[in-house]
Amino acid sequence: MKVKRQKTCRKLMQLYCSSYNFREPYQLVMDGTFVNVALRYRLDLRSLIPSTLAAQVKLFSTPCVAHELRSMGKEYAAAAAACKQFEQRRCGHRFGTKASDCLKDLIGETNEHHLMIATQDKALRTHMRAVPGTPLVYLSGSVVVLEPHSQETLQHVQDTERAKTQASAVEKKMIEAVVREMANVNETPAAAAGVEDTGLGGAGAMPKRKKVKGPNPLAVKKPKKEKEAPAKKVKRKLDEVEDTAEELGSGEADKKGGKKRKRATKKRKLMAVAATVGGTAPAGDESD
Ligand SMILES: [Zn+2]
Repeated sequence: MKVKRQKTCRKLMQLYCSSYNFREPYQLVMDGTFVNVALRYRLDLRSLIPSTLAAQVKLFSTPCVAHELRSMGKEYAAAAAACKQFEQRRCGHRFGTKASDCLKDLIGETNEHHLMIATQDKALRTHMRAVPGTPLVYLSGSVVVLEPHSQETLQHVQDTERAKTQASAVEKKMIEAVVREMANVNETPAAAAGVEDTGLGGAGAMPKRKKVKGPNPLAVKKPKKEKEAPAKKVKRKLDEVEDTAEELGSGEADKKGGKKRKRATKKRKLMAVAATVGGTAPAGDESD
């Protein structure tokens, strides 16, 4: 049973940590009714509460609580003494303030100091449930119980989560401005062409689209290289062929230079062979 209770307490505290910024060690403020019942059952609150909540917990009381117990007579003198043994939370009240009012003031409307309240006072617990993010502890017999989340606590968590996902007031204004500009552009079709250049200052994607409009530069460059390079080569080799053709005395130069040069050397060899066989000396056989 104890392990199960620890598990439920841990789960309950998880929401307070994630949505209300509670951090260990938790700060628990006890009132006179809670300390009095604990005394009756002779409970060691310093060890019992941390073990039940499965977390580090600092126990507090307030001067107002001890004073109220003392004012209630000898019956509560032991409880008053027990309260004084815990760390006293400064409340700034004058003596005579009711303990319940003291705790209400400590929590305020938002529980900004992330306090937990331990009380047997049902009216006080009902009041505290209305403050979102206020964990409430009470004793059921000798068992420490952490109350489930109140409706107000859960509602507040839902509201804050919703607020996170929705656009803020500033974002809404920006969206409205953009929508208005878009509407103006659509009304004047002549201006639609200029939209990408000047139309929406805030829309950064529009100029990029214009850049993309042309053909893919990677697809264009490759054929250009293939077409341009051979043309230059052909020009160069045509010149070379013309030079060699003039040397050989054969006037006509074909367009395919690489093969032409090889043919030219072949012709030179043939001419050399013909000269040796026929006895006629050709003009360009000096290289052979
Ligand atoms: Zn006080």
